Parts: sequence; C-alpha cells; structure tokens
Amino acid sequence: MSTLHEKLRCIVDGFCPELEPFEDHYRDFHENPELGTQEERTSKIAASHLKANGYDVITRIGGYGVVGVLKNGEGPTVLLRADMDALPLREITGLSYASMAETVDTDGDKKPIMHACGHDSHVASMMGTSTLLAKAKNNWKGTLIVLFQPDEEHVAGARAMLDDGLYKKVPKPDIILGQHLINVKAGVVLIKPGAFLAANNTLKVTVFGRGAHGAQPQDSIDPIILAAHMIVRLQTVVAREIGPLDAASVTCAYIHGGNAHNVIPDVVEFILNIRTFSESVRDTVLNAVERIIKGEAIASGVIKEPQIQPVLTCPPTDNDPEAAHMVESAFKAYFGEERTWEADRNTASEDFSLLATDIGVPYVFWLFGGVDHKVWAEFKRTKDKTLISSPHQADYAPVVQPTLRTGIEAMSIAALTFLKVDG
Ligand SMILES: [Zn+2]
Ligand SMILES: [Zn+2]
Repeated sequence: MSTLHEKLRCIVDGFCPELEPFEDHYRDFHENPELGTQEERTSKIAASHLKANGYDVITRIGGYGVVGVLKNGEGPTVLLRADMDALPLREITGLSYASMAETVDTDGDKKPIMHACGHDSHVASMMGTSTLLAKAKNNWKGTLIVLFQPDEEHVAGARAMLDDGLYKKVPKPDIILGQHLINVKAGVVLIKPGAFLAANNTLKVTVFGRGAHGAQPQDSIDPIILAAHMIVRLQTVVAREIGPLDAASVTCAYIHGGNAHNVIPDVVEFILNIRTFSESVRDTVLNAVERIIKGEAIASGVIKEPQIQPVLTCPPTDNDPEAAHMVESAFKAYFGEERTWEADRNTASEDFSLLATDIGVPYVFWLFGGVDHKVWAEFKRTKDKTLISSPHQADYAPVVQPTLRTGIEAMSIAALTFLKVDG
C-alpha cells in the first residue's frame, strides 16, 4: 500500500463519525420518501446538516437541489453528488420503517411512494461523508462541494440544476464523483473505468396514414401496416448497422392504433426505447432510426411525414479512465481486492454525467452493494434470483449495515483521492 493510500485510510478511519445518527436518518428518509420535484423535506434535512457542519449552503437550485461548499485552502475542487427522489411504488418490504406515503405525481395522478432505488441511502451516506470530511479538514486542502440532486428518476434534476445556474453559484469542480446502490453483497464496491451505464433515448413516433372502412382498404393508407414495417425494419439497426463488438438495444414496448374492428385508423403511435453506451453509437442508432421511419413512410406514400418526438433523453455514463483507475486503486487499498469488484457494463441509465459533461470535466461513478450476507450466500449456493430483490421492485430492501458504512467510506476515500492530501 502506498503512503498516500495509508494516509487516506488513517483519515477515513480516524474521522468516521458515529454511524447511529445516519442509520436513523436513513430509516427516516425511507419512511418519508418524496417523488422527483417534491423533495422538500429531504432537501431541508440535508441542507441543515451541511450548515451544522460548517458548509456554505445554497438551497432551491433547479427545484429542491442543495449544495454545500467547504473552502479549505489551495487545492483541487471536488464535487460529490447524491440523488434524493423516490419512486411511485407501493412498498411491500414489511420493514418496520416501510413507507405508507402517497402523493400526486407530476402527471396529476395519485401514487404510492417508495424509496425503491436506494436514493435514501445515497442521501444518508452523503450526510455521513460530509461530516467525516468536515471533521478531517486539517488533513486535506481544496474545495469540497456536496450536492444533493432532485428528480433523478424523471431524468430531469441534473439538467434543472444546470439550467438554474449551478456553476454560477458554486466554483467549477475539477472532478465529479457519484455512487449508486446495487443488488450485490453489502460491503462491496464495484467500479468500471470507461463506458459503464447506458444512454437512454426514448422517442414517441406518430405515424399518419389515411383512415377508411375496414372492408375498403384500397381507400386507405394503412398506418398499422406502415408502423409494422417500420418496427420490423428497425430491428436491422442493431443487427446490421452496429458493429458486433458495440452494444445497443432498440425496443418498441408500446404501440397503439385504432379503436374499432372495422375502421382503418388515421394514426398509429409507438414508443421506442433505445439504449447505447457511447455518443458515437448513439448517433449512429438515432440517425438510422430516423432514416428508416421516414423512408418507410415515403414507401407507403403518406401525405404527412411521421413525427418523432423525444420523450426522455439520458446521457451515457462513461467514466474517465484515468480518474476511475485512481478511485479503483484507492478502493482496493482501503476495502481490499475481495471487496472491490470490477463492475459489468449496465443498461441502467443516470443523469449524473450531465453535471460533468456540461462543463467538460471528468467524472467517476461507481456502485455499492446492499444485500444481506446470509441472503447473498444462499443466492450463491442456489443461484435462485428470486432471493434478491432489485432496484425498482416493491420489495427492495437493502440492509442498513454494512451498506451505509460502505457508502460513507467509499465516497470519502474517492473524495480524498482528488483533494490535496500530503502522502
Ligand atoms: Zn432508479
Ligand atoms: Zn437510482
């Protein structure tokens, strides 16, 4: 182990706060989840925690976004991000601190709410990290920015904070760090330099034809036949336009057309969900999708061109290789090889990287486990996937410890890797 890594261990172990208050915060956040754009309570608790620890705090950035800035002498500026929002699910974990909450979502519908993506643990861990690094400030130099982001699940919060002038309110960071819970053994961290999480482009396609009596198809331009051709041909994008070593998926999971058994409709709508891992593959796929939709429409002789509207756009998470290697070796030194796993590429998506790519700075995003050790051992023995609940499932219930401790330690080690610490 290098002297620097030894120093980082001394700081993290020496200044790690009592964990009980953060466990209480975790259970409290879990029991009182808030959907994206509604994180008033969570952000208030996060903001007052940062204030109490000596950070300069700015609230209400891009909704309920919060940042705390700790200026601590000459050195790099490091931004740490945690997301705060929950999901519209009815919790069935049976935990004593399970959520019973309901609210009206941004679409106007009343929905149950649950922390089924671990953002409660991200917030509690980040509160612990912010305490640890504030207590340890005689041991590092630089500027630390702790950011609590709203509205990740709608893939809107990072953009909202940027559009609200985030980097006019806080110094521009040299590096941005983030982490997410995953359904592997608690106490483990997983990292992958380079392409990591997928970009998600969701498009709504409206195909315009000409309606007619079902028995007089010669009078129609049938949008159902046309949409069917489009969707079949779209399968060739991945099969024939993307190289076999690149990865992409183009899925049509929603299609609607017609209201009667004997009426050819005027319009068909379908939605495409597209996942890619790099900007260049994403551009290739999106161009091919547009070309095929427009080309098939021309082939059918439509009078009105089809409409392609973005429903959701989420960037890829493509870790800076050098910075990610630095975090990886710091994790290996602190957690040991047996607790530092190489992450696989993952088709999940995040808006985290926008906070960095918008200003052209490097970023590193990693995962940490939350599965009870006994359950994990049973899963390894039986290979029974039903033993382990995953994020976005109504029975998702990570164990409190060592999950939270690992989240605090991982974020602190990573932050100190980039702050100025004399080894
Ligand atoms: Zn999620
Ligand atoms: Zn999440």
